Amino acid sequence: MTTTGLGDRRVYNPRGCEVNAVLHCNLRCRSCSHLSPIMPPWFADPERVRRDLSRLARSYHCEFVKILGGEPLLHPRLTEIIRVIRESSIAKRIVICTNGSLLHSARSEVWSMVDEIEISVYPSNVIPNDRLDDFRRRAREHGTDLSVRLSPVFRESYSEMGTEDGNLIDQIFRTCQIAHVWRCHTVHEGYFYPCPQSYFIHRLRHANPEDSGDGLEIRDEDFADDLRRHIDSATGPSACRWCLGSVGRRFAHEQVSRRQWAELAKEPTEALLDRQLLTELENNINVESHGKVRLEEGPIPDAWTRP
Ligand code: SF4
Ligand code: SF4
Repeated sequence: MTTTGLGDRRVYNPRGCEVNAVLHCNLRCRSCSHLSPIMPPWFADPERVRRDLSRLARSYHCEFVKILGGEPLLHPRLTEIIRVIRESSIAKRIVICTNGSLLHSARSEVWSMVDEIEISVYPSNVIPNDRLDDFRRRAREHGTDLSVRLSPVFRESYSEMGTEDGNLIDQIFRTCQIAHVWRCHTVHEGYFYPCPQSYFIHRLRHANPEDSGDGLEIRDEDFADDLRRHIDSATGPSACRWCLGSVGRRFAHEQVSRRQWAELAKEPTEALLDRQLLTELENNINVESHGKVRLEEGPIPDAWTRP
């Protein structure tokens, strides 16, 4: 991590920091890395988000804040969350990441208050093209960027059993694009985590993320040096022991029941690993791995909309 280049010594992330507006979702994607299909309803408190980000902004700056979840449009006070993020000045841009299924009923303020809405389209939840046209029209009206990503495949995200193999844990951490390329930091309930997984994995294991040491408590003072050390740690968070990072096995996206969702992670890390990708990423960490396709102008292809 570098300094901001803004004449101060804050930690600067050239990518984004994530804020979960909710933890639950109206879809049940297999291997959702935020555990949303098995999470009870939970709504972020805008005042808590305000406190966390205004404190953090004294020591940290990033290019964008992503508001996600779960499905963030389930939050009834979403505009308040957007407002407190904007007022914190922690980032230039605010992006909402949504599965798009509730976007048609989002209030106009949501469109006008954010810089970008990013829709992930899954084969089991395809947005009709006339609705997509309407989203594009609303985006133009509000001067908001709209990006659409087709996500036909997912990767295994976690192993509840984990691995005892220290070399493998190191390899998974070293090749982790989430931590080293996309730099998806996460702020949640008073703590800063170097990646979303270092919060969520402890929830999967019924442990308290705050006791894991993976999160750094956000303090009401300059703590940029501690933050830099935490982010740049050579060993990675303890969560790496149960995480597949970028190298989980790939599968066609599907939605599953809550019970199936929990069962599927009950395999050891070794059984859920894409070893070929692990080798490729060791040679080049920028190899494309996620299988998402950005949809430029035009309709969602026929193959996606056929039953
Ligand atoms: S849409 Fe799917 S991947 Fe996204 S939060 Fe919901 S369950 Fe998870
Ligand atoms: S827990 Fe480790 S492997 Fe998983 S995303 Fe975080 S840094 Fe990467």
